Amino acid sequence: MLYYKMKKNPNTPHTCLKISNSALETAMTCPRKYYWKYERKIVPTDSGGSAPLDFGIALHRALELRGMGHSLKECQAAFVELFPRSLGPSHTVQSGLAILDAYWAHYASDTMEVLHNEYPFEVCLGPVTIFGRLDKVVYLPILDKLAILDHKSTTKFGRSFLDMHNPNSQFSTYIFGGDCEFGDIDTLLVDGILVPYQYKREPKDKEGQRYQVESIDGSPAWIIPAFERVPTTRSPKDKESWKQNILSWTYNILKWQNDEFWPRADRSYLCSGKWANCPYRELCIIPDQPCNIEPPAGLFKEKERRDD
Ligand code: SF4
Repeated sequence: MLYYKMKKNPNTPHTCLKISNSALETAMTCPRKYYWKYERKIVPTDSGGSAPLDFGIALHRALELRGMGHSLKECQAAFVELFPRSLGPSHTVQSGLAILDAYWAHYASDTMEVLHNEYPFEVCLGPVTIFGRLDKVVYLPILDKLAILDHKSTTKFGRSFLDMHNPNSQFSTYIFGGDCEFGDIDTLLVDGILVPYQYKREPKDKEGQRYQVESIDGSPAWIIPAFERVPTTRSPKDKESWKQNILSWTYNILKWQNDEFWPRADRSYLCSGKWANCPYRELCIIPDQPCNIEPPAGLFKEKERRDD
């Protein structure tokens, strides 16, 4: 078992932070989860794969290659390389290939020009540097402007999908990052891709283009891919308020680092009741300071030892 103990040196307090966009999002959701995942680098031993995550990564890779001018067949091959076998009723290899096929058909006459794929960005705001990647930087000829395109697979379109765009700190960071790198960017297009929970047994003809696929149990079913691009913009005032919010979270994180104490997200939907899906629950129920906890062998492993 790896042993971990953070060295405490009161003479060198943490005063600045370099943090990825996803780590910052995690800290905002639950500080202690951020601590387990990004400070201690602890991962559950059974986190070998998650169907939606692996499916999404493979889809992203295929769409990245599309942005670089690769053919549908090449992108489908890249998808299969990363997602070689079906992992659940709604995440099958066939459904991924069908979604890609339909995406090509849906956006065949797209006028948007892809300028950059997976573009790395850094935003420096006083004591904090946030880094991440932009799925795509695109030129929109109709509006004669640049924008960010972010691929998002979703199980449902509708109100909940539209409501997630603003406020949304992650998208604000992308817009701000694009703005810093390219200047004058205020828009992000959420490139919604439907990955349905369940396949249809008897689809109605009017529902749109459909693909016959095999369910995970081998029975025939249908998938009806759907796509929706939703623009979301940030005004100069929105950007200012995002900046203030990020700075206040930065000071919180620095304080938690210096105090070596990480509050729990009590009553978080991530770790209570029927939403108890946080992989760190076993660590959080141990009644001790998080910095003293040695993860139970077998359940968790530390990715690397931290010496400073
Ligand atoms: S179990 Fe709850 S408090 Fe603990 S890390 Fe997960 S979300 Fe946070």
